[in-house]
Amino acid sequence: MSLAKIDKPATLLPMTDESAETRFHGVGVSPGIARGNIQVMRDEFEEIERYRIEPSQIPAEIARFESALVQTRIQILEMQQKIAEAIGTKDAGIFDAHLLVVEDRTLIDEVLRKLECDQVNVEAIFHDVAAKYAETLGQIDDPYLRERALDIQDVMRRVVRNLQGKAPKIMPQPGEAHILVAHNLTPSDAASMDRDRVLGIATDLGSRTSHTAIMARSLTIPAAVGLHDVTEKVESGAMALLDGYTGLLIVNPLPETLTYYGKVEVRQSEVSKELAVLRDRSATTRDGDHVVLSANIELPDDVTSVSANGAEGIGLYRTEFLYLDRDSLPGEEEQYQTYRRVAESVRPHPLIIRTFDLGGDKIAGGIDVSDELNPFLGWRAIRFCLEHLEVFKPQLRAILRASELGNVKLMFPMISGKAELSRALEVLDECKTELASAGIPFNAEMQIGAMIEIPSAAICSESLAPQVDFFSIGTNDLIQYAIAVDRVNERIAHLYEPSHPAVLRLIKMVADAARKHQIWFGVCGEMAGDIELTPLLLGLGVDELSVSPALVPRVKSAIRNVSREECEELVEEVLFLDTPAAILERSLHLARERYGELLG
Ligand code: PEP
Ligand code: MG
Repeated sequence: MSLAKIDKPATLLPMTDESAETRFHGVGVSPGIARGNIQVMRDEFEEIERYRIEPSQIPAEIARFESALVQTRIQILEMQQKIAEAIGTKDAGIFDAHLLVVEDRTLIDEVLRKLECDQVNVEAIFHDVAAKYAETLGQIDDPYLRERALDIQDVMRRVVRNLQGKAPKIMPQPGEAHILVAHNLTPSDAASMDRDRVLGIATDLGSRTSHTAIMARSLTIPAAVGLHDVTEKVESGAMALLDGYTGLLIVNPLPETLTYYGKVEVRQSEVSKELAVLRDRSATTRDGDHVVLSANIELPDDVTSVSANGAEGIGLYRTEFLYLDRDSLPGEEEQYQTYRRVAESVRPHPLIIRTFDLGGDKIAGGIDVSDELNPFLGWRAIRFCLEHLEVFKPQLRAILRASELGNVKLMFPMISGKAELSRALEVLDECKTELASAGIPFNAEMQIGAMIEIPSAAICSESLAPQVDFFSIGTNDLIQYAIAVDRVNERIAHLYEPSHPAVLRLIKMVADAARKHQIWFGVCGEMAGDIELTPLLLGLGVDELSVSPALVPRVKSAIRNVSREECEELVEEVLFLDTPAAILERSLHLARERYGELLG
């Protein structure tokens, strides 16, 4: 492969002159270059205006306040009703606390009193009073009162937005295509954004394994995260260039910068063309070992990018994205039609459907799991499902029904140990019995897997293996739990090290358990798509790697350039090393020797 080298222009320091080029450095999480005008989506509270009012305006402010409270009350009641219809009245009860906030006399009286005294617009006053109230409650060492503080914050956002006359959602909808700059984007923001108009994404917060980054990669939208306070420093309308490879946002790029990036794009398209010839070739190592290379998808439409990039099916379908961009939960029939369509389009290759993993950084409209201090350690995924069989079972039945029409496999996320896995399997058996007695066909032999993404599951993988047909290692979570580094916190992103010896040892335990019990195992976390680490994963014995569709060609080329044997030798050597840097260096050394031009 011949790849021309491009000289970088001299690094330019940030300048204050508005027309000068200014660079913001973050982390590149979705490759590609985007050029366009910036559209800043500011945090909702940054926009609360504060202005003085005349005493004569106070009655009008009170009237505005009252109607915002009424509107908020109606919205909460509507939401409560939707939840009650979807998942039952018990869960809808959480909104009772929100209703109490809108009716809280102490809070309302304090707003009215301050309005008279301070003579400032009511949204600013209400925000001050409610924030103070929530802060005071939040500091009290009582879990009930702390929860009330979270209720107040939630309701406060709604009331302020109603006072501002804004719709509950805050995605900008400009007419033109733009580079979206935001403090943070939630996965549901990403799911609901207009993908044809978003050329690139740049955020203050975020990390490589946040679901927003994962989503951007799937959508092939260049993205840079962890840009600190970029939202405060740039204005909508400014011309910018976003480099999703290295994580740079360049505002007002100079002509030489544009020329440089023009060459980068030419070079990247040459690389893509060279890799495209591998599309129909298999991911087989130099010594003839075939590795199943599949793709991860979030949305059903992503399926077109699976075979287009030469993947052998879908190794992880994150079904919870079906739940994100909407107010109510999809029922069994809707899910069945979706899964069936995806399964049919990748057939005969497998479609591995992961049962939904809501919670953490993925919050659905119809389910309230948001008010938790540690959401990644909280009421998430299988934990939620096993308590809400009325949500879980329709999904399981839909997957079973789709298994009749394609090569469908099912896996459970966030399994922590044997009891949880046994319970999930029991529920699946109940669904099989229900379908069988209703005469509805399904594949009784459908393969079932457990995701290994909690260290306890890796350590106990020996006892899980006899219960399943395969393991799929979710390194995004496994790494964050193994080394206690929040996967979405950009401040500690440098501590998130996939080559940590503890991570390798955990994967080794899973590999050993899988071999002993003769089941296959794969890796579907972002580590699987990082070609600096491919030699390590191959050496650890993976049977399958599942990566973002756009990364498939690179990973395939990496696999085809090494031998399994040399990777195994590498692993034998690095398992004795005790720092992530030393392990990474050894892996990189082999990667550079075998496919240095891909590492760029
Ligand atoms: C993982 O944790 O590695 C994984 C694949 O699941 P998710 O990123 O959706 O948590
Ligand atoms: Mg996970």
